Order: sequence, then structure tokens, then C-alpha cells
Amino acid sequence: MVPTITLNDQTQIPQLGFGTYLVPPEQTAEIVDQALQIGYRHIDTAQMYGNEEGVGAAIAASGIAREELYVTSKLNTGDHRPDNVRRSFDETLAKLGLEQLDLFLIHWPLPTLYGGDYVSTWKAVSGLVADGRLRTAGVSNFQPDHLERIIGETGVVPAVNQIEVHPYFRNEEARAASARHGIAVEAWGPLGQGNVLDDEVIAGIAAQRGRTSAQIILRWHIQRGDIVFPKSMRRQRMQENFQLFDFELSADEVKAIDALDRGAEGRVGPHPDTFAYLP
Ligand code: NAD
Repeated sequence: MVPTITLNDQTQIPQLGFGTYLVPPEQTAEIVDQALQIGYRHIDTAQMYGNEEGVGAAIAASGIAREELYVTSKLNTGDHRPDNVRRSFDETLAKLGLEQLDLFLIHWPLPTLYGGDYVSTWKAVSGLVADGRLRTAGVSNFQPDHLERIIGETGVVPAVNQIEVHPYFRNEEARAASARHGIAVEAWGPLGQGNVLDDEVIAGIAAQRGRTSAQIILRWHIQRGDIVFPKSMRRQRMQENFQLFDFELSADEVKAIDALDRGAEGRVGPHPDTFAYLP
């Protein structure tokens, strides 16, 4: 059973989900269908991934009751202006075939674009909740000062901050800033996008326990209380990543994994202060 986490708007989110970054659009329906068969009920997609229609097709074909599913998408970087937020959110709902989305995030803060105005974007995204078609609004890749600014200027606290977190980059500053405001952390790239899987310390723990390195890393995230949605296109791995709730890491094992942190050197993704990609 996947535990749920209660967000600061009192809604619940499954702590484990399935990520779809780099799942090609034409294969997405089939891959997400497999994930749903395995038991995943939380799917993380984004406008930028170009695969929302495939996610929607898998959901429609699954016959799973809507209230049992949790679906997240994210605002693309080209649509930060408030009118575009509303238009592109409508497109997201249409592509996913949903009347209500569970979670919508500002994908990147883009402090060097739009005159540094991610505050208007946050007002527009958080404003989507009022008309009932969005349950929960959040952000992604927000640094501590970005969080301070949107909260200070709007008084509206995001429910989640989806940020890069894995054993080589624990990202504790952004995690702590999120926690201070009661914002749940979603750890993207939980396996370091594959980079952490060959680590010897993790392989050692995995061998001792008869588990895989991926399971050890994902269990570490779960015990830290973060939300994760690993991505794989191989059924065997999707299955293995879903088996995290029948064992527990000891305090010493957690400490050994904590010690792998490489600080800023450990990042696999771009820095949110400088990321400025536009489609
Ligand atoms: P990840 O850490 O989940 O790693 C994915 C890679 O690890 C896969 O390509 C696969 O090769 C490998 N892998 C997965 N399971 C494995 C297993 N059991 N054994 C061996 N190898 C395995 O990286 P990710 O996909 O980038 O991150 C997860 C999700 O987070 C994404 O799919 C996406 O939904 C989200 N994400 C969000 C952002 C953002 O900016 N908000 C950025 C990146 C990813």
C-alpha cells in the first residue's frame, strides 16, 4: 500500500508515483497503462514533455475511478503570462481528458525571463483553484528566495515544491525552506536520473538486503518524507520501483547514504536561478 501525504490544503497525495519525463509521446499510453496495471495511481507529467495526451489515453482506457488517481502537470516555460496560464491549463485538461487536475505546478521560476515576474504567474496558477478545475497549486524548482517572494507578495503558500533531490544532491536548503512554510517536497530525479545507481555504498546496502540499488535509494527518499515518482520504461524496473513498503532502512544505512551528498557538485539538472529555456 502506498502511503499518502496530507498537503497544506488538506488534500492527499500518494507518496509514490510514476514519472514520465522522456517517455516518448507515441509510447506514453502503453507505458502509463503498464504503470497503472502495476498499481501506480499517481502520474507526473508536464506540458513540456509533450505526452499529456498519452497519459490521458491510458487513464481513459484503464477504467480506474477518477478519485483513485492523482495527476500532476506543469506549466510550460513559454506560457508564464497570466492569460497564457489559463489558456494552456485548459489545453492540459483537454489533452488529459480530465475535468479537474489534481496538481498544477509552475515548472521553472525563470527569474531571468519575463522581467523576473514569476509572481504574476503564481497568482494566475494559484487562482485556477477557485473555479474548481484545479485542486492544488504548487511550484517546481523554486529556490528559497523564490518561495519567500511569492509568499510575501501574494500571501498564497504553494502546496508542493518539486525540486531535484537524490543522494548526490540532497538539496537541504531548498528542502528546509519548503518545510518552514509547510510546503511538501517532491524529489525529482530521485535516482539522480540514473547517476546514483552505480554507487558502491548503495550497491553494498542493496547486496546485504537482497534488494536493488534503485529500491534502496527510493526507500531512502520515502523515509525522508519526500514524494517520489521514478521513471522507467521497463516493466521489471517499474515493478521493482513500486516495491518499497515491505522493508525499512536502519538509521546507520540512512546515515551512510546521507554522507554521499556532493553539494552543488552533485546536481544533474540545471540551476533554477539561470535556467531560461523557452520552447
Ligand atoms: P530518475 O531519477 O527517476 O531516473 C530515471 C532513469 O533511471 C531512467 O531513465 C532509467 O534509465 C533509470 N532507472 C529507473 N528505475 C531503474 C531501476 N529500477 N533500475 C535501473 N535503472 C533504473 O529521473 P527522472 O525521470 O528525471 O525523474 C523522475 C521524474 O521526475 C520525471 O520522470 C519527471 O516526472 C520528474 N522530473 C521533473 C523535473 C522538474 O523540473 N520538475 C525535472 C526532471 C524530472
